[in-house]
Amino acid sequence: MLIAGVVGGAATAQLTGGRRVLGVEPVLRAAATALEPAVRLALHGDLHFPVDVAGGDLVIPNGFGGVSGVKGAGGHNGVDIGNGCSDGRGRPLLACVDGTLNSEKVLSTAGRLRVLADDVGNYYRYHHLDAYAPEIEVGDRVRRGDVIGYMGSSGNTSWSHLHFEVWIGGISPGLGGRAVDPLPRLPLPIPGVTVGLPDC
Ligand SMILES: [Zn+2]
Repeated sequence: MLIAGVVGGAATAQLTGGRRVLGVEPVLRAAATALEPAVRLALHGDLHFPVDVAGGDLVIPNGFGGVSGVKGAGGHNGVDIGNGCSDGRGRPLLACVDGTLNSEKVLSTAGRLRVLADDVGNYYRYHHLDAYAPEIEVGDRVRRGDVIGYMGSSGNTSWSHLHFEVWIGGISPGLGGRAVDPLPRLPLPIPGVTVGLPDC
């Protein structure tokens, strides 16, 4: 029992004789999940922070999954990052991964948006841009930290901010993807970046 308690499932399987195959099966299943996008994302490491932090005054007031303070109601598939005590319009938005500029479009809700794709099937959405960085076009390679656009309030918001989403395994639910909380994947804490409401 001590051995099983220390080393877990594999030892338990060895000690249960005829039930070995059943005992081992969950271990094999766990290894298989390592191929799944969620785990691959974790292996990808921290994302580059998607907003230029020079100058500080950044806040992340709206978390993942709750009510959006910007939209006023409904689920929230990402986090909002904006200036706390000044107007952040025009602040550089940075590629959070090495990858490609997958797509861009303008929607009434999300405004001017860009989507990055990494090389393992995950997608990163940037909403409400004031402007695109014109030197990067759809299909171009980007490196972590490259400027891909500028913070703004296009779409259904009055606050200049970045709405930032992370999708693993696909760009939408219909294509096998699911949105995950970006916050644990950001390299926080960062001086000048406050998770919560601004203190002006
Ligand atoms: Zn948002």
